[in-house]
Amino acid sequence: MLTVIERPERMNLRGLLPNIDKIRSRDFPLFEKYGRIYLDSTATSQEPQSVKDKMYEYRSTHIRGSNHSKNSAEAREAQQRQEESREKLKQFFGSYNYLTGFTAGTTDSSNWVATRFPFEKGDVLVITEAEHNSQILTARNMAREKGADVYYVPVNLPDGRLDLERFRKIASQRKKGKILLDLVHASNVSGVINPVEEIREILGNRGFIYLDMAQSAGHIPINLDKLDVDFAGLSAHKIYGPTGIGAVFINKKSQRYITNRISGGSAVDLISEWFTNSPKSQARFEPGTQNLEGVIEFGFVLDYLKEIGMDKIEAHDQEVGKYFLGQLLKIPGVNIYGPTDFKNRTSTIAFNVGSYKRKNYDKVAQELDKEGISLRDGCFCAHIYAAQLLGIPKILNDARAGLMKIGVSAELMKLPGAVRASFAFYNTPEEAYTALTKIEKIAKND
Ligand code: PMP
Repeated sequence: MLTVIERPERMNLRGLLPNIDKIRSRDFPLFEKYGRIYLDSTATSQEPQSVKDKMYEYRSTHIRGSNHSKNSAEAREAQQRQEESREKLKQFFGSYNYLTGFTAGTTDSSNWVATRFPFEKGDVLVITEAEHNSQILTARNMAREKGADVYYVPVNLPDGRLDLERFRKIASQRKKGKILLDLVHASNVSGVINPVEEIREILGNRGFIYLDMAQSAGHIPINLDKLDVDFAGLSAHKIYGPTGIGAVFINKKSQRYITNRISGGSAVDLISEWFTNSPKSQARFEPGTQNLEGVIEFGFVLDYLKEIGMDKIEAHDQEVGKYFLGQLLKIPGVNIYGPTDFKNRTSTIAFNVGSYKRKNYDKVAQELDKEGISLRDGCFCAHIYAAQLLGIPKILNDARAGLMKIGVSAELMKLPGAVRASFAFYNTPEEAYTALTKIEKIAKND
C-alpha cells in the first residue's frame, strides 16, 4: 500500500526520553507482553511496575495503623506516611500557599468545591465551554439553586481555544457579588492548555478560580503558587498512579470560602449536644478513615515522576504527539478537532475518519482495537465542547437535549462523536507510526 506516513527517525526527535526503551522494558512490560499499543492515557494511564512493586513491598512488610490513633508505632507510621505524601504533593505542584486534602479524584474534588462554595443570589458561576461534564453538572445545579447566574465562556472555532475577549466582558460586567470560574487546565478533547495566568489577570482578585488539572498534571510541570488559583483538583490514576485517590488544593487565602465536604471523626476538636468546634488545621477536610494505601502509593508515583523529571516527560510527550499530529494531517479524509499546531497543547488529539456525520467513529475504534491499539471514541464526557468542535450548532445541541428530556429516544438524540488518541511518556514514536498506518488503511477502505 502506498503510504503518506513518514517513518519516525529517533535522532530527529530530540525531545524523546533517551532511556525510553529501558523505561518501557522495566516499568511497562505489559505492553510488549500483550502486544498492545495504549493510546488512551487521557481516560486512565498506566502505573509503572516499580511503583506497583514498591507498594506491594510496603503492604507486605508493614503492620497497618490508623492515622487517627496516637500512641502506637503503627499509628505514628501511618500519620508520618500520610504527611510525607502530602509534602510530596506540595513539592511536586509547588503548592506551598495551599492546603492539600486527599479526595477520591478530580470528580470528587470538583464536586467538593461546587457544593461547598458559598454561592448567593447575585453571584456568578462562569463555566468555560471546554469543561468536562464533571465540572459543569453539580456547579451549575448549586449555583442555580442558590440564585447565582450562570455564564459560559465560548470557544473560538476551529481550534477550540477560549474566547478571552468574551471572558473579559463577562468578568467586568458584574460589579458586585462573587464570581467562581470553572476552568479546565488542559482539555481532554482537544489538548488545548488554557492560559491560567492571563485568565487570573483578567479576573483580578475578586474572582475565584477552580482549576481542573486532571489532564495537565501528568503531562506538564505545574507550579500552583505561580498560577495563583483558589482551588484545584486532580486524579492520581491520570498521572500514572492508583485509582480512587486524588487531591484538592485550597489556597490559604480562599479557605474561608470553603467548608469540608463531609464531616466525622477527627474533623472536629470537640462537639457537645449543641456545639461543634472544628480544628483550623487540614484535619477538618479529612474526616473518617481515609484511603491511606492510596495516599502512600500516590507519594511513590510522585517520587518516580520526579526522578525522571516533568520537563523531560513534557518534552517526550510533545515530541511524540507532534509527530503523530503532523502525519495525521496528511491522511486524506481525516478531520482533526482542535488546534493543528503544537503550541500550548498536550498530546491529546481528537479526529474523525471522514465527517462526524458518517458516525463511523466507534467502528474506527473497534478496528484499531482489533489491531491491538487502544483509544477512545465518543464525546469524552465533554458534551458542550465536543458539540462545538464537531460543528453542531448550540441550538441543535439544546434541541437534542430538550427532546431527550421529554422522552425522545436517547439513541436517536445522542451526540455523534470522534476518536481520540492520547500519548504519555511511555509511548514511542514507532507506536504512533503503527497507529497512523492503521488509520490510513481505514481511511482508504472507508
Ligand atoms: N476533568 C477532566 C478534564 C477529565 O478528563 C476527567 C476524566 N476524563 C475528569 C475531570 C474526571 O476525572 P476522574 O474520572 O478521575 O474523576
